[in-house]
Amino acid sequence: MLDPFGRTITYLRVSVTDRCDFRCTYCMAEDMTFLPKAELLTLEELDRLCSAFVAKGVRKLRLTGGEPLVRRNVMGLVRSLGRHLQTGALDELTLTTNGSQLAKFAGELKDAGIKRINVSLDTLDPARFRDITRWGRIEQVRDGIDAALDAGLKVKINAVALRGTNEDEIEDLMLWAHGRGMDFTLIETMPMGEVDADRTDQYLPLSLVRTRLAQRFTLEESDYRTGGPARYVRVAETGGRLGFITPLTHNFCESCNRVRLTCTGTLYMCLGQDDAADLRAPLRASSDDTLLSTAIDEAIARKPKGHDFVIDRRRKAPAVARHMSVTGG
Ligand code: SAM
Ligand code: SF4
Repeated sequence: MLDPFGRTITYLRVSVTDRCDFRCTYCMAEDMTFLPKAELLTLEELDRLCSAFVAKGVRKLRLTGGEPLVRRNVMGLVRSLGRHLQTGALDELTLTTNGSQLAKFAGELKDAGIKRINVSLDTLDPARFRDITRWGRIEQVRDGIDAALDAGLKVKINAVALRGTNEDEIEDLMLWAHGRGMDFTLIETMPMGEVDADRTDQYLPLSLVRTRLAQRFTLEESDYRTGGPARYVRVAETGGRLGFITPLTHNFCESCNRVRLTCTGTLYMCLGQDDAADLRAPLRASSDDTLLSTAIDEAIARKPKGHDFVIDRRRKAPAVARHMSVTGG
């Protein structure tokens, strides 16, 4: 699959549910309206859609959400998608999770062929964790991370850098992650969906964070890549990897290799644009994948050049109306 700007699409991110057991302040409003359950694709339909993408050249699949591990029977989908790893059609099957259910599922994830997972964690302080996630308990997440490491999964910790919230803790988080052999990646807040907080207050440019870290640590340039938008440095003092995902201070669209599927079968060709293609209708119209394949080709032909994220005090509305939990970060 080649888009109009010559980028080959090899990476599909799938939001298996828009629901979540947390309500992170930068991601959701406390009182969220979720998609009607009747609109959801079944797990079998999600499998068929993902498999159609694999047949068309996708090499990496990431399950995300909402919280992917709160969807009922999601492990059935994970196990079933694992077959593409065995045939060699897929290089990697992975997951982004808030960690709350990992204690239960880590072993099964490993058995299904998952090697690496991303766990989102913005603070190590229990009270602060409660403030950020509104509903979360940090002990549950820490137990989940322990279970994942014990099961032999490679874990990368992702933290959203939030001005005045975890700004003073970024160094500690990095040291903690590296001390446990986990990579650590920082993400800038993106203006997606109405949340109760003011995003201009939350936004902390990573260029600033990096400058601060560079005063204390030796950040060595690295060409390590995982097929995602993060740029990595190696921290000489810890030997660990530190990633930066900077959609606002540095646009990474020129190397974008991905598209995103929602749990209702809508395909977004860009996280930061509204254009989308409905794949549920062609999926359901026939048991043969011809219509679906044509719809995917048409969608890829419309992949835009880049996003329009800006966080600016004059512009109060988010850049895109849908929440990150719909398209899955
Ligand atoms: N619930 C899972 C989790 O938290 O890892 C998966 C879905 S979550 C939407 C995926 C990632 O998006 C998380 O790392 C989260 O911190 C990040 N995220 C959510 N809203 C964001 C926003 N407005 N800007 C930047 N990152 C965001
Ligand atoms: Fe849930 Fe993840 Fe969004 Fe937090 S960031 S509310 S854990 S979907």
